[in-house]
Amino acid sequence: MTSAKLFVTKRAKSVASEVDTAGNDRDGAEPDPEFGSVESIRETTEAAIDEITAPDGDQECLHCGLSLPAAGPPVCHRCGVAR
Ligand SMILES: [Zn+2]
Repeated sequence: MTSAKLFVTKRAKSVASEVDTAGNDRDGAEPDPEFGSVESIRETTEAAIDEITAPDGDQECLHCGLSLPAAGPPVCHRCGVAR
């Protein structure tokens, strides 16, 4: 084996072990072959959008009391008062 092939082999094993480690961090389960795939991302996109867009109710407008999402604009969208 040439040194270049040896390097590539070692590097590929190193990358593979890093991927395995990341996969095993998920509740100690076996690496999920679907993890990070286009299919799994498509399946979880809707849940992620719900999570992002759902009002968390943590903040309320000081003026009118409207519940404001934490990621929203710095002013109340009902009365325009800065929060
Ligand atoms: Zn308001």
